[in-house]
Amino acid sequence: MAKSQRMTKQKTAILEILRSVESHPTAEWIYQEARKKIPGLSLGTVYRNLNQLRDNGEISELEFGSHQSRFDGNRDNHYHFCCTECGKVYDIHMPLIKSIENRARAASSFTVTGHRLEFFGVCNDCLEMKKAI
Ligand code: ZN
Ligand code: MN
Repeated sequence: MAKSQRMTKQKTAILEILRSVESHPTAEWIYQEARKKIPGLSLGTVYRNLNQLRDNGEISELEFGSHQSRFDGNRDNHYHFCCTECGKVYDIHMPLIKSIENRARAASSFTVTGHRLEFFGVCNDCLEMKKAI
């Protein structure tokens, strides 16, 4: 069996957790969830499995500045919004802007095969919190 197809029990559990949520959780959160199913699981093992899943293209790692990395089990290209206050990452449900790739091609000599787009701002929860103060 190819390396990428080999699925350990831990890896399957981690993938299932990630596929079931839209919250783009941190490794720490995934660890807390996964250990309910796999007692004795270590945070190091979770990190190692997350790295492998990312390298195999099963999940993506989202990094926004100083905030902790978050993970996404949705493999389809889609856009994200990152709150600069709390670091939460939300999906933005909008059609992909494919024309931006043509513009990048026109502006460079590169073979552009895709793009990634991230938005920043303040989420509604943080906005409410600011109003309450
Ligand atoms: Zn926020
Ligand atoms: Mn997402």
